[in-house]
Amino acid sequence: MRLLLVEDNDRFSEFLEKALRDAGFAVDRADSCATAKVSFDASGFDAVILDLGLPDGDGLALLKERRATGDRTPVLILTARDGLSDRVGGLNAGADDYLAKPFAMEELVARVKALLRRPGAALSVQLTLGNICLDTVGPSFTIDGKTATLTRRELALMEILLRRPGKVISRGAIEEGLYSFSDEVGSNALEVLVSRLRKKLGSLGADINLHTVRGVGYMVMDHP
Ligand code: CA
Repeated sequence: MRLLLVEDNDRFSEFLEKALRDAGFAVDRADSCATAKVSFDASGFDAVILDLGLPDGDGLALLKERRATGDRTPVLILTARDGLSDRVGGLNAGADDYLAKPFAMEELVARVKALLRRPGAALSVQLTLGNICLDTVGPSFTIDGKTATLTRRELALMEILLRRPGKVISRGAIEEGLYSFSDEVGSNALEVLVSRLRKKLGSLGADINLHTVRGVGYMVMDHP
């Protein structure tokens, strides 16, 4: 799951980015309305964390603008302003949730996950196929009810594929979900990741297949 973090305080933003990455998200950062707009247009995000006080404008105005274009990406606003009117204003502008600074990191992570699993976002918590089950919120991964240890990237890849079993997902779409702009990604990074995951699934007795569709992408199916 890929997040856009819009926050102009560099140190705070770095800290949030690290914590969100540790929680398994791919994170891109923007530090102004202008850079946020560029990122919005360049890529699809699963959710946006938006500070309201930005150097070149108001996060709320930016949010209204996005909503006016029909963009329904879940947005959580972060702000030092704690008043009721700000909260109501944020929700009226199209925010899905609100968190006042200071906050505990665990709370931010929990709220972002809640945003991502709300109905309408078409995201569910438990993704199952064959004898495997991925709980995207835990996150945890089980095969035949037994916990299997996957790396963060492996889990993220599994999640992308399991959301559309039996459908080919293009390389580009997968890479977009796995890596942020700032990640240095080798041209064969995805192949390496897929082959490692495929071996791991095989050795742990998963009864699903991770197919390579040459020149297009990948898909998972529940039949060997
Ligand atoms: Ca700010």
